[in-house]
Amino acid sequence: MRRFSGDTLLVATHNAGKLEEIATLLEPYGVSVVGAAEKGLKEPEETETSFAGNACIKAHAAAKATGLPALSDDSGIEIEALDGAPGVYTADWAETETGRDFVMAMTKAHDWLVAKGAPKPWRARFCCTLVLAWPDGHDEVFPGTIDGQIVWPRRGTQGHGYDPIFQPDGYDMTFAEMDRWAKNKISHRADAFAKLVKGCFD
Ligand code: IMP
Repeated sequence: MRRFSGDTLLVATHNAGKLEEIATLLEPYGVSVVGAAEKGLKEPEETETSFAGNACIKAHAAAKATGLPALSDDSGIEIEALDGAPGVYTADWAETETGRDFVMAMTKAHDWLVAKGAPKPWRARFCCTLVLAWPDGHDEVFPGTIDGQIVWPRRGTQGHGYDPIFQPDGYDMTFAEMDRWAKNKISHRADAFAKLVKGCFD
């Protein structure tokens, strides 16, 4: 496992919220972060069929372009009875001509489960893979997951994306019914970040 030894990390995201979250997390380790937008980086096309593959594309492209170690993530939800769909196409299921519509995406998942006659519980898992890549081509990959089930109808108003239909194991609330702090402690992203920090920063 290669440890991070510099003082600046490029975070391969154009999402200001994600950048701030990562900056806060890595501050105790004396790491300052810089975002993809600040470096004028374009988002590469995500052409792989796994979260790790797409996170690798983004991290290596950013490391190569800037000469800095770069961190990226790729995430989504896998529904067991749908053979892992939407998986890497989680965001694509919400695309419309006028922007992302997650009610439509959640309805699609539910309707497909019903059409297939899938028996309950509808097992599902959120996944987040983090990749830290160096300009010399080396990388470290950290997959995070949380298991649970798809519930219907949608419940809760907090969070984002597919949160209203995902109930994590051991809880009777969906991610959208939990407060942000509670969700962020147990999420697939928290799992991947804990592994990243243990492997490369602690
Ligand atoms: P990306 O990793 O930014 O490409 O996002 C992948 C997709 O997965 C997005 O459409 C998100 O809405 C969805 N997603 C990822 N993590 C979560 C989560 O914690 N809750 C709900 N949806 C999520």
